[in-house]
Amino acid sequence: MRYVGNIFRPPSEADSLLLQTTIGCSHNRCTFCAMYRDKQFRVRRLEDVLEDITTARDEYGPDVRRVFLCDGNALILPTPHLLRILTTLEQSFPDLQRVGVYANARDLVSKPIEELKELVGHRLSQFYLGLESGSDAILKQIDKGATADEMVAGVRHGMSAGMKSSVIFLLGLGGRKHWRENAIESARAVSQMNPNYLSALTVTVVPGTPLARQLKSGEFELPEPAEFAAELRLFLEQVDVKATVFRSNHASNYVPLEGRLPKDKERMVAELTEAIKHHRFKPEYMRGL
Ligand code: SF4
Repeated sequence: MRYVGNIFRPPSEADSLLLQTTIGCSHNRCTFCAMYRDKQFRVRRLEDVLEDITTARDEYGPDVRRVFLCDGNALILPTPHLLRILTTLEQSFPDLQRVGVYANARDLVSKPIEELKELVGHRLSQFYLGLESGSDAILKQIDKGATADEMVAGVRHGMSAGMKSSVIFLLGLGGRKHWRENAIESARAVSQMNPNYLSALTVTVVPGTPLARQLKSGEFELPEPAEFAAELRLFLEQVDVKATVFRSNHASNYVPLEGRLPKDKERMVAELTEAIKHHRFKPEYMRGL
């Protein structure tokens, strides 16, 4: 397999074949994100992608069941282009169950529902969307390039085509000043999305990013572990979803949590209260990006 630059995938795609179909992120401006800063966004040549599928079939055999399309937002590819990739994957891997992709709100709503359904019919059935925050003021501050309502519309559009949604939001993006707003507005947006999966990650300031410069100048203040936990607790108290698998056990999180919402809400709120009370947080040296 050939890859250009660093490759990223969601934790739940750990066992997937990683197939690079685009290079970089078409937005590439979020102030906290360093994932694709070294890459100029471009579409990878279709012939190269198809050749990589042949290589994967030769190397791993026909039993691949899951594939993740890298990089940042491969759903931007035109539908016929995606269908060529998906049908080649289906022919090469007869037991293929699921293809996943990162998507942004614009990618999702720009595809008519019938096109999305056709993609789902060819196994492209899981998308991951970074909400980051449900506050439009914070989204503007981090240069997300979309409003909360646009992202709600994108997620609902994808789900109405039969895709499974996995939404990520970032604790601490409002800094110490706006943590309540980040929690309450994110809970509001997530409640409207009602995603299948939800992950709460903790913001980590990566050197060289605009957020690192804002931290240095004092424009952004990183919350303390107890403040991150209080933010997550407020989020959980406010969020109102019907059946969502929730995870906050990423390497970046100070208090690892996992459960189903709404069923496990009270238990997770109590675990956060205990962590705050006894100051039980993952030490910094154990945290990762
Ligand atoms: S957070 Fe997502 S949309 Fe923003 S620059 Fe990074 S990859 Fe692109």
